[in-house]
Amino acid sequence: METTEKYILLGRTLPELKEWVQSQGMPSFAAGQLMDWIYVKRARSFSEMTNLSLKHRALLEEKASLGLTEPLSVAVSRDGTKKYLFATSVGIGVECVYIPDRERATLCVSSQVGCKMHCAFCMTGRMGFKAQLSAHEILNQVLSVPESSSLTNLVFMGMGEPCDNVEAVLRSIRLLTDERGLAWSPKRITLSSIGAMPGLQRVLEETRVQIAISLHTPDLQQRGEWVPAERIWPIRDTLDLLRGYDFSHQRRLSFEYVMFRGLNDDIAHARMLLSLLNGLNCRMNLIRFHSIPDTPFVRSEESTIQAFADYLNAKGLLTTVRASCGEDIEAACGLLSTCVSKDDVG
Ligand code: SF4
Repeated sequence: METTEKYILLGRTLPELKEWVQSQGMPSFAAGQLMDWIYVKRARSFSEMTNLSLKHRALLEEKASLGLTEPLSVAVSRDGTKKYLFATSVGIGVECVYIPDRERATLCVSSQVGCKMHCAFCMTGRMGFKAQLSAHEILNQVLSVPESSSLTNLVFMGMGEPCDNVEAVLRSIRLLTDERGLAWSPKRITLSSIGAMPGLQRVLEETRVQIAISLHTPDLQQRGEWVPAERIWPIRDTLDLLRGYDFSHQRRLSFEYVMFRGLNDDIAHARMLLSLLNGLNCRMNLIRFHSIPDTPFVRSEESTIQAFADYLNAKGLLTTVRASCGEDIEAACGLLSTCVSKDDVG
């Protein structure tokens, strides 16, 4: 039997919705009502949309889908971190991580199923690339976690390199920050990238979200070994690009640096780091390595991490050490993966 795909409403802009509702014989103002029901009132079914006529609700039921799906499972950490698994169109799950921290409630969302970048210390990289997520699959993570309405911050730091799926990521950021959408301040959204251009440039140009660059070492040869994308998009070019933007006011630039014992955690590296960044207006975020199988990497000692942070702070580079969250449920940085290792969502 022939089936026609339903039109997915989540992830569409107001003009797109207008065009579609009109093509279905509905008045154009119904598009605004749909935006309101989806993003403001957070309806999860057409039957809740009581200011639409019964006839139009029946039509929507037949021809459209909200694009909202509940998580398939959740793993809860001792520290309150939760890892949610969502189904995707390619049949492999994708994960997002909810991190409560005093007055903050952050959701770390995924932008791809797997990743093409193959960073040496990352489980997602090891999984390889499986698929791009569409904007509605990205937004669904935000709207369908049970904590959705209490979220204060959003980070594109889950599975995938967001700048390698830039159309869908930009579309989701537009709807997250659109007054007719979720109306989030871009200050509460951070996008993390290894510096994948030209996607990064588009994010810088077309949004006001905070930027975090995964640096990990100032030694360029070492970075080429750990982050193979260094060979395509050298960090020096990324830094040159970043110097063209203003990070002194509302928008923040930070660098992420995973600390590996004996490899990138000595003061010589800290000095090299200062010289590479050369006065760029930014912050440094040191990250404890979370061990993954079959790698030579080992987490730096706490005292070494602190000494590294102290040195950078003393030299005027504002440096913090990121708290580890959800390590016991493999939800910590670099541990997300849905098709390697053991059954890691339970
Ligand atoms: S660290 Fe980020 S860019 Fe690198 S492989 Fe993992 S998900 Fe991809």
